Amino acid sequence: MCPSQPNRGEQSIRNDIERVLFTEEQIARRVETLAGQIAEQYAGRELTILAVLTGSLIFLADLIRKLPLPMRLDLVSVSSYPGQATRSEGPKVTVPPAGTLRGRNVLIVDDILDSGLTLQYLLDMVAEYQPESVSSCVLLRKERPDVENRTEAEFVGFDLPDEFVVGYGLDYDHLYRNLPDICVLKKHLYQDSQ
Ligand code: 5GP
Ligand code: MG
Repeated sequence: MCPSQPNRGEQSIRNDIERVLFTEEQIARRVETLAGQIAEQYAGRELTILAVLTGSLIFLADLIRKLPLPMRLDLVSVSSYPGQATRSEGPKVTVPPAGTLRGRNVLIVDDILDSGLTLQYLLDMVAEYQPESVSSCVLLRKERPDVENRTEAEFVGFDLPDEFVVGYGLDYDHLYRNLPDICVLKKHLYQDSQ
């Protein structure tokens, strides 16, 4: 097998993993705490979650089942990593929200805050729908001291170093979303495309 290609064999996608950053159990505990914070913040209000496909899918599924609030769910698709790139080249909405956001309390849910470009783009987009309020929740927040005045999220699961991660919904080239842990991929699998 060519060493710069991910291991697509049956054996184990674990072979492509350098190390586990957050285990399934750690994630479950943190997601429950986050849900508690969100529920407290939105107590007595109806929430509209606007989730960003596809990376937030597993986080979303776990998070909303821990939220004891009246809530609606809408989805957007944003493309920022064309092909095998591992740095954002500027977000674009490819699937807009299906329902109305006007007058709603919107909570944007995404997988990772990296440069913050995606989140800022979505905040601007949501503002155009004239919601009652808008805030954001990300499972992961990358350390990016090189980015000035980064857009921040109100609710954050974990901080992590500036490394490319996969698993728990996050992919590299459409692979690894099904890993239950959040993991750092072996560098030789993606560094050639940077
Ligand atoms: P930003 O616009 O903040 O630079 O990037 C946010 C998006 O980039 C995230 O929603 C996610 O889709 C993607 N992203 C950023 N870092 C990573 C990473 O380490 N792994 C994966 N799989 N996606 C990432
Ligand atoms: Mg994303």
